[in-house]
Amino acid sequence: MNQGVNASATQRWWAQYALLPSGLGRDVTFEVSGGRFTAVTPGTVPGHAQVLPGVVLPGFANAHSHAFHRSLRGRTHDGGGTFWTWRRRMYAVAAQLDPDSYLALATATYAEMALAGITVVGEFHYLHHAPGGVAYDDPNVMGEALRQGAANAGIRLTLLDTCYVAGGLSAAGHSPLDRLQLRFGDGHADRWAQRVEGLKESAGMRVGAAVHSVRAVPRDQLAVVAAAAAGRPLHVHVSEQPAENEACLAAYGDTPSGLLAAAGALAQNFTAVHATHLTGRDVGLLGGAGTCCCLCPTTERDLADGIGPAERLLDAGAALALGSDSNAVIDILEEARALELDQRRATGRRVLHQPEELLRAATVSGMRALGWDAGELTPGMLADFVTLNSANLAGRTLDPAYVIYGCSASDVTNVVVGGKTVVSR
Ligand SMILES: [Zn+2]
Repeated sequence: MNQGVNASATQRWWAQYALLPSGLGRDVTFEVSGGRFTAVTPGTVPGHAQVLPGVVLPGFANAHSHAFHRSLRGRTHDGGGTFWTWRRRMYAVAAQLDPDSYLALATATYAEMALAGITVVGEFHYLHHAPGGVAYDDPNVMGEALRQGAANAGIRLTLLDTCYVAGGLSAAGHSPLDRLQLRFGDGHADRWAQRVEGLKESAGMRVGAAVHSVRAVPRDQLAVVAAAAAGRPLHVHVSEQPAENEACLAAYGDTPSGLLAAAGALAQNFTAVHATHLTGRDVGLLGGAGTCCCLCPTTERDLADGIGPAERLLDAGAALALGSDSNAVIDILEEARALELDQRRATGRRVLHQPEELLRAATVSGMRALGWDAGELTPGMLADFVTLNSANLAGRTLDPAYVIYGCSASDVTNVVVGGKTVVSR
């Protein structure tokens, strides 16, 4: 489905409807050159432009993914258990992967994302080494498999290379990696940083950093990762489960957010993934630093994580983004409405977030969290856009409310990444 593009030529698309920063536009011509929008003009005729029936939106940002968890879809719903028993099954999958199978799995998962209108994925990548923790000849071969997988699928990747050096946390401190976790680890944050220096950015890939969690990186090494990120995206799983908070308080007398603040990690390049079980002080720290909080509602439901305080985080100054995380579901519109609807059940209130806020989480806020200037249909931005069109949309008022609450990944008919059509159906 890929089409070649002459980078210097101007390409034109024409949309019946488009969700522009100023609101719903009609009869909109998009001009694209060098992979970016050069003009976005409502009230036009199609002329020779490629016509896109339906409504055009910015491409979706999937700010938190573990591609290989995709293989657990539909396989963890028997026998009861908890987040922690789910994690043992996830480790069993991780134990079987090598660079070739990781590439195959990433390609398939990212292709499903492309079909769902996701044009950028943030991959929280910690499957670094061979079983037993032995480095491959190329110590970044698994990250390179993700780069190739995203290229195969035609979407952009922010590789959030993840520091993971400890097996767990208790009042007694951090425990070593266990047998199945050994391949996640570099031994120390300094050696993690040396390995990550070997990863080069390319047109389709940015390199960012991640701390798996305060369970997996001791306090004195958090600042090493934050410094190595050097303003690039820095993502951390934060307070996903109450047990993480309890262990952190027992070991350090502080919450995960407090620890990260003390390490100098909280800034505008920081994204707290999940941010579910937060104290009032945590909300203030994350919001006050202008961080992004990435919620992953379909995964958080599946793993019985809880419901994060999204409204309070937004009020405190944080941005919100969305992730498909375990990839049991790949549908950013479902994540967006779930962000709102799960809170309705928990609070007994309706409309905590306007549809425009949810759309922003699915697009421009997620793009910023991943380091891309995309997510708005406006000149200068990367030309990533998707079209929704189906019988479901016929005759509807195609405003953000209908898109968020009435549409799903299956309504995506056309996807363009940097001026290149990657899905057309
Ligand atoms: Zn995750």
